Amino acid sequence: MRNYLKHYINGEWVESTGNETEDVINPATEEVIGTISLGTKEDLDKAVQAARDAFPSFSQTSKEERIKMLENIAAEYENRKEEIIETITEELGSPKSISENVHYMMGYNHFSQAAESLRDFSFIEDRGGHTVMKDSVGVSGLITPWNFPTNQISTKIASAFAAGSPVVAKPAELTPFAAIILTEIFDKVGVPKGAFNLVNGSGSVIGDGISSHPDIDFVSFTGSGAVGQKIMQNASERIANVALELGGKSPLVVLEDADVEKAARAAVSHIATNSGQVCSAATRVLVPSSMKDSFEEAVKKVLPEFPVGDPQGDNHIGPLVSKKQWDTVQSYIEKGQEEGATLLVGGTGKPEGLDKGYYAKPTVFTDVNNDMVIAQEEIFGPVTCLITYDTIEEAIEISNDVKYGLAGYVFGEDEQTLAKVASSIRAGRVKINDAEADFAAPFGGYKQSGIGREWGDYGIEEYLEVKTVLGYPKL
Ligand code: NDP
Repeated sequence: MRNYLKHYINGEWVESTGNETEDVINPATEEVIGTISLGTKEDLDKAVQAARDAFPSFSQTSKEERIKMLENIAAEYENRKEEIIETITEELGSPKSISENVHYMMGYNHFSQAAESLRDFSFIEDRGGHTVMKDSVGVSGLITPWNFPTNQISTKIASAFAAGSPVVAKPAELTPFAAIILTEIFDKVGVPKGAFNLVNGSGSVIGDGISSHPDIDFVSFTGSGAVGQKIMQNASERIANVALELGGKSPLVVLEDADVEKAARAAVSHIATNSGQVCSAATRVLVPSSMKDSFEEAVKKVLPEFPVGDPQGDNHIGPLVSKKQWDTVQSYIEKGQEEGATLLVGGTGKPEGLDKGYYAKPTVFTDVNNDMVIAQEEIFGPVTCLITYDTIEEAIEISNDVKYGLAGYVFGEDEQTLAKVASSIRAGRVKINDAEADFAAPFGGYKQSGIGREWGDYGIEEYLEVKTVLGYPKL
């Protein structure tokens, strides 16, 4: 049992001022695996005060000191590798291979990339007639969701630290333990007192408290659009800046000359990895009408490569994070059938033999029209839609006919067509074929997928204010 009943404020683990607690459930076993304290507004005020007190010195640390701190964090993170993998598997239900190759790896890369990006980062620029300086934004409030317990919080903290911004963080109640390990890492490597504060608690108390706190200068949030809107409203009361990463309904465009099996494998992999609980997952697969039959066959052929089952075993798809998320996914599968889409594979209910745990069947709908609810709303589970198109122009139009714009994917050979589709998709990140991940590349969305960019130097910019000085001495 992991019982973490303290918050981390001003460089110390401290008792909560309240006595409410919340059990954390392993979604694969439905058993309680630990408990956290639900913080109060008083806990939050103390954390914000600690961050404020740390601001004058933390914001003035040198670039070299911050690089060293980020490198030390990355090194200590590596030392805790096995524990991080085990923890994420338990709290999220993510299969061990995904916990290692996706979750652990992303956290590590954000800290090491921030150190790397900082090396070439200029905080002062002589632009001839004027000088531009980049100052820490102040105190940052970070609110993160459950689907990537190390990724989102790590990219936010790494960028904030690189910019010299002290942090107050609130992870999701459903998966709070990875953030506690991170906090232990910061404590061990000697992150300055008050520069990092962790207050566990509910979204309605601590999350809302962060977004409306008069002493928090900048709020970075990842999660649902509905909460993103509330955060923006709260922050607008004091004209505080926000960065929002709010999910998507991303297209994967299969071109006529694509390798059908490779594209089908990618399409299934998008809803299989992390059980489809991925904001940038492709969940609308656009296939040329002429390829419909061969693509459907390829989907059925590759599906067994993604077994569903116990995350402690050799499976690719674990359970969904919670009963609530399982219910949501079920209702979307029902909705798709009511709307007249055809179930190619999967459907409602649990996969055979998996009665315990929040397991859902990987589900592929075909004969989907882009106007259907299942093609427009983020399902956040192992469900995708096959939509046919006849011309490249139509594929582009369908790709963009959605309120989101986080990501897009294109599969094919002809470079002119790949470039045309990639540059026409209205989204913050487009991936062509199997292009490699790059942690220096900015991440964020167009339209209702959010505001701002994370990762690498663009991520650091979010935590900075720009100051112009006219007549600055030529030192
Ligand atoms: P939420 O947006 O509710 O939760 C995300 C984070 O925000 C959590 O830490 C949560 O706290 C916190 N939060 C909740 N309410 C408030 C509030 N009023 N003010 C400030 N913070 C708050 O997402 P859900 O977990 O409810 O998931 C619902 C849907 O959102 C998913 O099905 C998916 O579609 C989408 N989503 C998108 C994500 C993305 O990566 N863009 C990530 C997660 C979800 P707590 O949960 O501890 O109360």
